[in-house]
Amino acid sequence: MLMRIGGKDTEGVDRRWIDVMNPATGVLIDRVPSGTPDDVAHAVDAADAVSSTWKKKSMRERGIILFHAARLVREQHKDLAKILTMEQGKPLKEAIDEVRGFASILEFYAGISAHTTGEAIRLGPAGDCMVVHEPIGICGAIIPWNMPVLIMGWKIGPALLAGNTMVLKPASTTPLSSLKLAAILDKAGLPPGVLNVVTGSGESVGEAIVMHPLIKKISFTGDCTTGEKIRRLASGQLKDLSLELGGSDPMIVMDDAEIDKAVEGALRGRFYNAGQTCTAVKRLYVHEKISKIFVEKLRVRVESLKVGNGLEPGIDMGPMNSAGQRERIAGMVNEITDKCEGKILTGGCSLTGPSYDAGFFYHPTLVSDVSPGARLLTDEIFGPVLPLMSVPDLDTAIQEANRSRYGLGASVWTTNLATTKRVFDEVHAGIIWVNRHITVPPEIPFGGMNESGIGRENGSHALESYSRTKTLFLGW
Ligand code: NDP
Repeated sequence: MLMRIGGKDTEGVDRRWIDVMNPATGVLIDRVPSGTPDDVAHAVDAADAVSSTWKKKSMRERGIILFHAARLVREQHKDLAKILTMEQGKPLKEAIDEVRGFASILEFYAGISAHTTGEAIRLGPAGDCMVVHEPIGICGAIIPWNMPVLIMGWKIGPALLAGNTMVLKPASTTPLSSLKLAAILDKAGLPPGVLNVVTGSGESVGEAIVMHPLIKKISFTGDCTTGEKIRRLASGQLKDLSLELGGSDPMIVMDDAEIDKAVEGALRGRFYNAGQTCTAVKRLYVHEKISKIFVEKLRVRVESLKVGNGLEPGIDMGPMNSAGQRERIAGMVNEITDKCEGKILTGGCSLTGPSYDAGFFYHPTLVSDVSPGARLLTDEIFGPVLPLMSVPDLDTAIQEANRSRYGLGASVWTTNLATTKRVFDEVHAGIIWVNRHITVPPEIPFGGMNESGIGRENGSHALESYSRTKTLFLGW
């Protein structure tokens, strides 16, 4: 597939290519141009050329285009999901959910377009003020490979509705779904240049987006180290920044929880998308009174997961997205055994055999009794590995949950309202779920505390973050 700049497919100036492989089979599925800073400059020119026309449309007109795009995405959801599974690895049923999630995001923003207003402030004898929301201008979006479709929706939905134009860079392993979606948006009536997708490496295309002086806001999702680099690069130009940098979400299961429901919550919370989700359950704290039975039930369910090529029927978990991601996870688990920092209850290695050798499959893994300083607890585990710890009471659970540099999400599984309130008040996270984990519908703000990043995506909060206020002061 080719890059999409100014509503047209283009090879880019350099005519070098990036191979896109299926992580389940190692087979080449397509190639995309390896873009350069010159391609970013062309995309910015295209975005700039259409900026004032797009900004002048009413929010309702922009919302109608998003609504048309959502309808086309729903019509083509099977083809889009297949592309997503082939480049990312997730099971087809998860890919379908993600594509529908993208359509829901566009529908949500289209839906609020008619209700978005400014403010009138009356100051008595001093006068009256009218406050309106204006778009920021050209925005840059840099997205990761774990949920490329959903995260693209989180960025383009509010940005385009607010009247901005955008240059978006997908991850190098998952560019195809973004390119296909951009073409659908153009077909839905988006004026050429409003959304441009430039493929290429983070160092070349990503940094050129961050550094371009006409790009006024950067929205990035990915690794902490990359986020920090982007923050430093952008700091000289006073750009608006939204950085979603992952998490190490704790899940707390109290002794009054519905055990079977919590087991299913942990299973989905951790192993959905092969564990490669920012809001996945990454540390599990279970009350000691129920930990034996809970862990046994969870082990049985984990061992029943069918791992394989996501295009095949009945698959619960696909491969990891790349060899590098699998190595990273294997390294963290190997450290547990080498340093005697925990006990592997199931899994703990790559899957081998004729159906697995060409892909990046890793066994769904449970590790118990993990030492507090182990990397499995201090770093973000972006794969199908779940550390479980038994805790004597709620105080300890809260204390352990907060022992992290991240603060994206957290959940508590309980039937007690007082427990819920304490966790909500005391655990540091941008979202606290009760008897649920991982779900982030378009209506709710999403983003973390501490090293999980800055800014909020989703909901009307994101719409505000892609605009700035302008005030008319009438001194009668
Ligand atoms: P990265 O942060 O490197 O990748 C995310 C995006 O940033 C990709 O589009 C990437 O491009 C781009 N990028 C990379 N370097 C730069 C740069 N210098 N300037 C601008 N953009 C850049 O994450 P990784 O893919 O290396 O994943 C590493 C770890 O990060 C994971 O194991 C996980 O722990 C965490 N992560 C968390 C995510 C989340 O949603 N919270 C998502 C992805 C990763 P390219 O693909 O071309 O390198």
